[in-house]
Amino acid sequence: MAKAPKTERAEVFRDHRSQLVLSKFLSGELDKLDPVYDPAYGYRYPALEAIIGDPTGTEEFLTHLYDLGILKRQTYDKTIYCPTCNSANVSIHYSCPYCKSFNIKKSALIEHIPCGYIDTEDRFKKDDKLVCPRCKTELNKPDINYRRAGIWCACNECNKSFDIPVPSHFCRVCSKNFTFDDASYRDVYAYTLNKEILKEVGVGFILVAPIREFLQSRGFTVESPSFLKGKSGASHMFDIAATRGDITRNVIVIDLATTAEEFVSEQSIIAMFAKVYDVSPDKACLIAIPKMGENGKKLAELYNIQLIEAKDQNDAIKALEKCVMAVIQSKIQQP
Ligand SMILES: [Zn+2]
Ligand SMILES: [Zn+2]
Ligand SMILES: [Zn+2]
Repeated sequence: MAKAPKTERAEVFRDHRSQLVLSKFLSGELDKLDPVYDPAYGYRYPALEAIIGDPTGTEEFLTHLYDLGILKRQTYDKTIYCPTCNSANVSIHYSCPYCKSFNIKKSALIEHIPCGYIDTEDRFKKDDKLVCPRCKTELNKPDINYRRAGIWCACNECNKSFDIPVPSHFCRVCSKNFTFDDASYRDVYAYTLNKEILKEVGVGFILVAPIREFLQSRGFTVESPSFLKGKSGASHMFDIAATRGDITRNVIVIDLATTAEEFVSEQSIIAMFAKVYDVSPDKACLIAIPKMGENGKKLAELYNIQLIEAKDQNDAIKALEKCVMAVIQSKIQQP
């Protein structure tokens, strides 16, 4: 069964790379992620490569975020890739429709209006002037006694003439010729953040950065997200884990639970308890934004999970500060 987009999005929000990319959008450092053309490679996203590292993974990464509704995209360009070697270093050839040669000559057609004679521009050229080959009059008033009457092509190979050449492509890497029929023709996008999604990510996501800063300022080493191994051997993920060698035997773990509803579901407490039971940290905090329901509160107490209810970032930090100071003091007082 396919996972619900919301669950999948939650996974993305926990991914360190996604967090970095999204925080660039959220902080305003990045407004729109535009592709940049590289002749050898095709389009790339340098701003993203700096985060992801591997340029071959950027497209997949962005498509995933788009599919989940986190990013919006607009078509920026279309690129032609060689069907043989997949290079984007491809040139366009305008070719003769009869013999397919691209060795054609393009000319402008000129009509001498008074006598109606039409021919290619070079037939009218006489020194620096344009003179009608039929009536020998000079053409000197554009749009009055002569006008441009379109384009005419002549093939240098088969000598046939035509007005519309046939486009074809030439790969500058493997030197193969190919037509639009065989070309791989792909969309290139510019990406922006889907602001709607912020409601879902909520303050919780944006909170990670300030919480991290706060804990670091108190001398903690912080990991977010953090994967900790439990007694069972299984690895559990917490939104934030903080350690301070001199104080904590083990670690303080923090999970964030946010909701657009009135109350955060007690499930977040139950899920956290299962992890905490296995990992046995010094302290477990669950930050519920904005509030936890009555059942959740009871469970938190029963499970010895410190519940922090906060309506916003400042609230959460203040409450967390109290909680962290309490941990530090209790450890100092212990013999
Ligand atoms: Zn090629
Ligand atoms: Zn030809
Ligand atoms: Zn004429």
